[in-house]
Amino acid sequence: MVALKVQNTVNTPDAIVVGGGPVGAFTALNLSRLGVKTTVFEEHSTIGLPSHCAGHISIRSLRNIGLYPLPKEIVENSFCAANFYSAKGTKFSIHLSCPVTVALNRARFDQFLAKKAQEAGAEFVLNAHVGSLLVKDGSVKGVTVKQVEGTEENIYSKIVVDAEGVSSRLLRQTGLKPLKPNGLVYAVEAEVDNVEEVEDQAVEVYFGKAYAPGFYGWLIPKKDGSAKVGLATSHGNPRENLKRLMTKHPVASKQLAKAQIKSIGYHAITLGGPIVRAYSDGFLAVGDCASQVKPTTGGGVIFGLICAREAAEVAGQAINLGDFSSSFLKDYQKRCDDLLSFDFRVMLRLRRFLDSLSEEKLDEMFRVCRKLGVDRALANVDEIDFQGKLLLTAVRKPTMLAALVYFGLLYLSANP
Ligand SMILES: Cc1cc2nc3c(=O)[nH]c(=O)nc-3n(C[C@H](O)[C@H](O)[C@H](O)COP(=O)(O)OP(=O)(O)OC[C@H]3O[C@@H](n4cnc5c(N)ncnc54)[C@H](O)[C@@H]3O)c2cc1C
Repeated sequence: MVALKVQNTVNTPDAIVVGGGPVGAFTALNLSRLGVKTTVFEEHSTIGLPSHCAGHISIRSLRNIGLYPLPKEIVENSFCAANFYSAKGTKFSIHLSCPVTVALNRARFDQFLAKKAQEAGAEFVLNAHVGSLLVKDGSVKGVTVKQVEGTEENIYSKIVVDAEGVSSRLLRQTGLKPLKPNGLVYAVEAEVDNVEEVEDQAVEVYFGKAYAPGFYGWLIPKKDGSAKVGLATSHGNPRENLKRLMTKHPVASKQLAKAQIKSIGYHAITLGGPIVRAYSDGFLAVGDCASQVKPTTGGGVIFGLICAREAAEVAGQAINLGDFSSSFLKDYQKRCDDLLSFDFRVMLRLRRFLDSLSEEKLDEMFRVCRKLGVDRALANVDEIDFQGKLLLTAVRKPTMLAALVYFGLLYLSANP
């Protein structure tokens, strides 16, 4: 991987992007392709590090957004199966006819996107923390940047795109509604070796309130016997929950009996659905800071990239027309809503449904799914991101319709 050339000087940009994560870099790439002079400020010294993400992504979605195939050193593994376990260890598996997802090395993926953006003309300034927005007459006009050596500088631009991730500190300064605190779960992910009894091409998903209340645990194997193991939790200490999962869960404890933790990281995931308004005068919010993350799985890369592309197009038009008013920039919101709001609504309901199930009901659900043949009905699925549209297609199959009626009854019995 070629190292990213670091810029130390900032020419006056047309657009500033805050954050050099995948969403910030992809916004910069798309802006630069439109000929917009773009500067990205990233507070860390290396793009992609520290990494906090499993990097489990749909191949179809990557292809649709023009990023697949990827260089092989970024792709750690590909998957055509998933095994789901209840807290008691009841298993429900889906095996598909070909790989539908990949696990990416997130640091390398982020660096790949940043490199592409830089080649397209974007400037990246590392070790540069954006402390605040410069706001004049209610409109965002630039940012205040603090570099490691302590210098602080005001940098002006025509538009600021906020891609700062889940912390969403700058968003608050614009007066836009911040992320819902009750929509956050707290994640831990470890790199482990010596994993046993896992299929090479299957991801493992562990449910159970004792391990991951409000979410689930996962194991994503690599080809060399190592894996990414993690979970997220709405309450409790993620580190202790991970220890419990690795030692007490009836299935995970066997698979991880000899595992050694090589590295570990912590980060929040936002599951509350997109913020109601992600634009204001001279300002757009994109990615995790706008909660453009799937409420079911916590996957935020693909939806973040899709919204980044829309943000860049609208920002590019605003620059061409010289109109940075919120009434013009709201087109960004409309485009994202048109593309994603149906799926977000369905996934928020699915999240509520999953949260409402007791351990016993979840266990029963896995057994009923197996009996109904839901695994066979899903064998040709290649879409995992647009879960609303997936459900619409699925109900055309009698098995899936029966399963959905059953899920509906389960939900009603859990929420009388
Ligand atoms: C444990 C875990 C596992 C996950 N697994 C998956 C998965 O398998 N698949 C998936 O699709 N999603 C996954 N996600 C979610 C995914 O990581 C995020 O949705 C994705 O990283 C969002 O990208 P982003 O660019 O919006 O934010 P980030 O990746 O968080 O990037 C934000 C960047 O902004 C920088 N920054 C922040 N504030 C400032 C500032 N003030 N000044 C300058 N720079 C700043 C940060 O340093 C960072 O580089 C996971 C998340 C977690 C926590």
